[in-house]
Amino acid sequence: MRAELNHTEPCGCGSGKRYGKCCKKDRLSYHRDGRGTIHKTILLDERGRAAVEDANSRFHEVFGRKPQGKDRVLADGYAYSPDDLNRDTLKAFAEAGVPREIAYAFSETGLIISAESAALASPIDLKEWDDAIDRYLSAMDEGEDLLAPEDGPVAKNLEEFEGLIK
Ligand SMILES: [Zn+2]
Repeated sequence: MRAELNHTEPCGCGSGKRYGKCCKKDRLSYHRDGRGTIHKTILLDERGRAAVEDANSRFHEVFGRKPQGKDRVLADGYAYSPDDLNRDTLKAFAEAGVPREIAYAFSETGLIISAESAALASPIDLKEWDDAIDRYLSAMDEGEDLLAPEDGPVAKNLEEFEGLIK
């Protein structure tokens, strides 16, 4: 069984601060499982819960049972790699006119931190994010675009893809 960390324990995010004074928030918490492994838990909002319920009933239709253990409930997980996600997200960012430092920070950290989601990020996640933004902006000051298309993840993926179809 999982149990939430005690308020006075070191926080699960690794900051070294007490859990109660660090990440413990309404929708963000840390739990320890039976083997002593610590897990970050983010409570889903209403839309998230509805999506998981949909996926659960789809799983039941296909397999005739409830999902368990390491079953992937969101079937797209089998067809969609982290590289796909990175590429498609960067493409969507570019189309939506998202600032390039945000796109860079996403491709470096795998996070998307907005004013809204910052409340669910650990101090370590926030620092990693801010550091990536700073790195991008300082490089821009030196005239170097770290998200330049010729060496960005999008181009790398495209090269791999073109290599496959040649
Ligand atoms: Zn923390």
